[in-house]
Amino acid sequence: MNLSSGVKLNNGIEIPYIGLGVFKAEEGDETYNAVKWAIEAGYRHIDTAAIYKNEVSVGKAIKDSGIAREEIFVTTKLWNEDMRQDNQLKAIDVSLEKIGLDYVDLYLVHWPVKGKYVESWKKMEEIYKSGKAKAVGISNFNIHHIEDILAASDLVPAVNQCECSPELTQVELADYCKQKGIIFQPWSPLGQGNTVKHPKILAIAEKYGKTAAQVILRWGLQRGFVNIPKSSKKERIVENSKIFDFELNDEDFKELFTLNTDKRYGPDPETFAF
Ligand code: NAD
Repeated sequence: MNLSSGVKLNNGIEIPYIGLGVFKAEEGDETYNAVKWAIEAGYRHIDTAAIYKNEVSVGKAIKDSGIAREEIFVTTKLWNEDMRQDNQLKAIDVSLEKIGLDYVDLYLVHWPVKGKYVESWKKMEEIYKSGKAKAVGISNFNIHHIEDILAASDLVPAVNQCECSPELTQVELADYCKQKGIIFQPWSPLGQGNTVKHPKILAIAEKYGKTAAQVILRWGLQRGFVNIPKSSKKERIVENSKIFDFELNDEDFKELFTLNTDKRYGPDPETFAF
């Protein structure tokens, strides 16, 4: 297994287990360089969103890399305001134009916007059928949100991208997704840089001669998840990719679950107001 290894989504498309997240990376040099360094390090998966406002730099770095389009898995997301304004079908075109691609590999409903997420999922079906996204999925959906869309549509989301780390293990939601054939994709796997300071994780990391970030990402991998850690620093981008050369033993793997306090560093899907 290596950086281009992946798992098959429920429609047969493969998603690499590790992707570079670019949330809060500025359009321009910061995003461009992060994506460039990631691709040089062997990453073949980039996670952006319309609201990150850096799709142009993501696309430019991919193009300049010289790597064939079909070898890089690109995710972007439908923003909440585009759902509220019934702009779903135009929003994907705007993203494609900015990234400079004919299709994205994965298009996600970014948040379950009240009163809009079921109808937005119906629009995702159209987008999927148009070929503008090779797979479609959801983000920040809890079980009841997923049940609502499954009651209204035969299309099962390929992915559910949600906050998840050793401080927010999401066991029930991840098990539910697995049972439905939805790949679970943790966001903020490193707790936005906080969870990497946890003393118990640092102690485990020392035993393996690895860093706390690598231990957390390896734990996610051993759970069968697709991780999208973010960094704009070259050394950390490389560090976060080196998780395929060790394995957490059963005891350490289980120990990480005991750190759960349901701590969120980002908004809660039940109460977000944007
Ligand atoms: P993260 O948990 O990946 O943490 C990133 C931060 O951790 C960095 O800014 C840096 O400060 C620190 N860091 C990174 N690598 C490190 C290392 N090796 N050692 C020590 N510190 C390190 O947080 P995130 O960016 O919020 O989440 C990852 C990605 O998930 C995002 O970039 C984005 O693509 C996606 N995301 C999606 C949603 C959503 O609603 N779907 C929300 C937030 C993030």
